[in-house]
Amino acid sequence: MPYSRQIIDDDDVAAVAAALRGDLLTTGPLVDEFEAALAAVTGAVEAVVFANGTAALHAACFAAGVGPGDVTATSAISFAASANCAAYLGATPRFADVDPDTVNVDPASLLALGPVDAVVPVDFAGLPIEPDVIAAAAGEATVIEDAAHGLGARYADGTPVGSCPNGIVMTAFSFHPVKSITTGEGGAVTTNDADLAAAMRRFRHHGIERDRSKFVGADEGPWYHEMHDLGFNYRITDFQCALGLTQLKKLDGFVEARNEIADAYRDRLAPVEDVILPAAATGAGRHAYHLFAIRVPAARRRGVFDALRADGLGVQVHYLPIYRHPWYRTTYGYEAGLCPNAEAYYAGAISIPIYPGMSKDDVERVARSLETALAAS
Ligand SMILES: *Cc1c(COP(=O)(O)O)cnc(C)c1O
Repeated sequence: MPYSRQIIDDDDVAAVAAALRGDLLTTGPLVDEFEAALAAVTGAVEAVVFANGTAALHAACFAAGVGPGDVTATSAISFAASANCAAYLGATPRFADVDPDTVNVDPASLLALGPVDAVVPVDFAGLPIEPDVIAAAAGEATVIEDAAHGLGARYADGTPVGSCPNGIVMTAFSFHPVKSITTGEGGAVTTNDADLAAAMRRFRHHGIERDRSKFVGADEGPWYHEMHDLGFNYRITDFQCALGLTQLKKLDGFVEARNEIADAYRDRLAPVEDVILPAAATGAGRHAYHLFAIRVPAARRRGVFDALRADGLGVQVHYLPIYRHPWYRTTYGYEAGLCPNAEAYYAGAISIPIYPGMSKDDVERVARSLETALAAS
C-alpha cells in the first residue's frame, strides 16, 4: 500500500492508444482540448499545460517577472520545487513558517519577511489556502499558488482552487501519478490574465513568438519565426493530454473517494492516543487529500515509521523543511531551526496511505498497524 497512487481504467488506456494512432503526437489538438477542459473545471479564463508541475511553476515565476536580485517567499514545508522555481531565475527564495494546525503558510510569518517580489503559497496535502488572507499578507508581491496537491479542492467559500480569486494571479498544478489526476508527468498553470498565459506559452516553446503581429523584424516568409525570450522545451505530448482529458472527467470521483478515506481515518483514529490528525477543510471548502499526514510524538516517529514500513505500508514523510536541503544551506546560508513550527511539524509527521482505490478494510489494516507500531515504540 503506497502513500498515494494513480487509478488507470480501460477508458484511459483507450484514449492514449487512440492518440498514439493520430497524426500529431505533440503540439496537436489534444493540448488545446486539455487546456480548455482544465479552464472549465477550475473556472479560470486560461490554462496552460506543461511537461511537469515544476516547469509550470518555473513558467509562472518567469511570466510574473521574477529575476536576478528578486526575493520570493514560499512555505518551509513543501516539495523543493516550490522554491526552486524562483532560484532557476536567479531570485533568492525565502521561507515563511507554517501554521501549526493547517501546515499552510502562516500569514504573520509571511508579513514578517518584509517586502518580497513573489509569493508561492502551497495548498499543503490538498488543504486550500485562504486567498484573501494570503493576498493581504503578500502586499504588492505577485501571488503564485502552488496547488500541486490541490486540484479538485475548493476554498472555504466553495469556489474551486485554480479559479484565481482575490489577488491569486496564477495557480500551478502537477499531474504526477501521486497527485489528484495524472498524465504520467505533466503540469499546468491557470490564470485569468491572457498576457501571462501568452508569456507562459512562449516560455514552454523556447521563448518563440507565434503571433506574427508581434514580430520585431520584417516577416521574411512562412518559415520565419522569432525567439523573444530565453524559454525552454517544456511541452507536453498529445497522448499525455489524451490521458489528462479522461482523468479529468473522473477528478470529482477521485477527490470524493479520497475524502471518504479521510473521514474513515478520522473516525477510526480519533480515539487513538498520541496521534494528531490533519486539519479538515472549513466552511464550504473541500480538501483534496493528496496526503493524509498525521503527527506522532517526535521521539517515537522513527520507530513508528520503521514499524509501518516493515509491515508493508509505503508511508512517507512530507517534507523536510526546504531550507535544510544541503543546496539551500550552502547556496543561501540557511540553518536548521529557521522556522520553528515547520521543524516541530516535520519531526512528528508521517503520511499514511490515501488514494481512491483504497477500501475500508485497507483503512482498518493501516489503523491496526499504527496502533501496534505506537504500542511498540
Ligand atoms: C509534485 C509537486 C510539485 C512538482 O510537480 P512535478 O509534476 O513533480 O514536477 C511542485 N510542488 C509541490 C508541492 C508538489 O508536491
